[in-house]
Amino acid sequence: MKEKEFLQEVKEINLLESTLALTEWDRQTGMPEKATDYRAEQDAYLYKLMFEKSTGPVIREAMSYFGEHRDELSELGQQVYDKVKENYDNDIAIPADRMEAYTRETSKAYSAWIDARKAENFQLFKKSLENLIAFKKEFIPLWRKEEKTPYDVLLGKYEPELTVETLDKVFSEVRDGIIAIRKTIEERGIAPETDFLSRLVSKEQQKEFITKVVEELGYDFSKGRLDDTVHPFMTGFNRNDTRITTRWNENDFKMAVFGIIHEQGHGQYEQNIDPKFDYTPLTGGVSMGIHESQSLFQEIIVGSNRAFWKKQYPFFQEVTQGTFDDIDFETFYHGLKETHANFIRIEADTLTYVLHIIIRYEMEKAIFNENVNLDTLPELWNAKYEEYLGIRPSNDLEGILQDVHWAGGDFGYFPSYALGYMYAAQLKHAMDKDLDFDAVLASDDYSPIKNWLNEKIRQYGASRKPKQLIFDATGEDLNPKYLLDYLRQIYFDVYQVE
Ligand code: ZN
Repeated sequence: MKEKEFLQEVKEINLLESTLALTEWDRQTGMPEKATDYRAEQDAYLYKLMFEKSTGPVIREAMSYFGEHRDELSELGQQVYDKVKENYDNDIAIPADRMEAYTRETSKAYSAWIDARKAENFQLFKKSLENLIAFKKEFIPLWRKEEKTPYDVLLGKYEPELTVETLDKVFSEVRDGIIAIRKTIEERGIAPETDFLSRLVSKEQQKEFITKVVEELGYDFSKGRLDDTVHPFMTGFNRNDTRITTRWNENDFKMAVFGIIHEQGHGQYEQNIDPKFDYTPLTGGVSMGIHESQSLFQEIIVGSNRAFWKKQYPFFQEVTQGTFDDIDFETFYHGLKETHANFIRIEADTLTYVLHIIIRYEMEKAIFNENVNLDTLPELWNAKYEEYLGIRPSNDLEGILQDVHWAGGDFGYFPSYALGYMYAAQLKHAMDKDLDFDAVLASDDYSPIKNWLNEKIRQYGASRKPKQLIFDATGEDLNPKYLLDYLRQIYFDVYQVE
């Protein structure tokens, strides 16, 4: 077999995969209501073609031939081989009939979750959850390579090489650190004014402001676009076509402004992957955690920066035509960074967000490594909210039923969000050695930040593992200290803690 033949097959798989992503984008942005059935058939057919190719004779032969003749591949060929092999092993690990049964169970679980939410009653979802957990426990030994605990296998699906051993250590440090910051603010802080945040800012005004800002930050609209949706996301088909979506609230401009700053960070990541990875599985993000680090760098590092807002606030005032004339910069900036405990993860602020994730991590670990009795989950959830955030959900809807992830069988996914926070703060710390961050954000040219991220992270696509990327970019392994330093700096400033 020749490398050319292998790469041609890989290219065709990539084209099918990106076409499926395109139909999904269309489904979530503008597909007519009655198109559902036809679209389901289109997707099922494309998916079947893609799966058959991914596990078919050409790939099978390539896996065995180049497994023995690695030296016949170019450097790029070897990188592609490793990634394709990883996907291939994953695809063939589970017998097709069991995979099908699992997929059927996830759609049933989704309906059960919707019903349980309506009734605010976890018991209606429990049986489905139990079935999905049983499937995962059946699959774990089939996926397992060197991972130590069952939950390590699930973590590795989203963040390669991440372990419970590492997370236990960093999460307990972060959890205690954030709880201590919250305590200090509560005892010695001055709460910022926030009423003005609900002033009417029209969708057009928000759009005018944020479109210009994200262009300055480096999102290239000639390779992307912005559309409306219910659950915002970014999807990339190719580095020249990475699209972002948002939802708007005219009485809460923060939602779309920070949401778009976040999503365009995902978009910039994929726009700047090295062209040599085109048409291969390396032309996407390497992991959920690294992807989130790129979006969160924009949202929480740039988006929390005083110099950034000092520069942008006059433009915001101009676009909003007098609505904020009586609000001086300090008041505005402080208001943006207000923090308070909240039941709902997706409405949490920068300081409390990671605590929501740590709670989910501890719950998932209890399910898979400690075989906890599922009847006790709602109480376990509520007790952790009380202990870490000082609030107790009054029903399952604002408690354990709030996230869709478990209904989709996505166990092990949540920690990626928290990793993104820690990676982002660690990257910022490393960036400080190479450039004057505040001075760049006070200037008319943000390109030094963009170039740094391109060089250290984005260009590599999925060709390097997260651990190596972070080590090469920052000179050390994951270190939660930088996130805590950063949160302390922002919130002690905003809450005027001396
Ligand atoms: Zn994201």
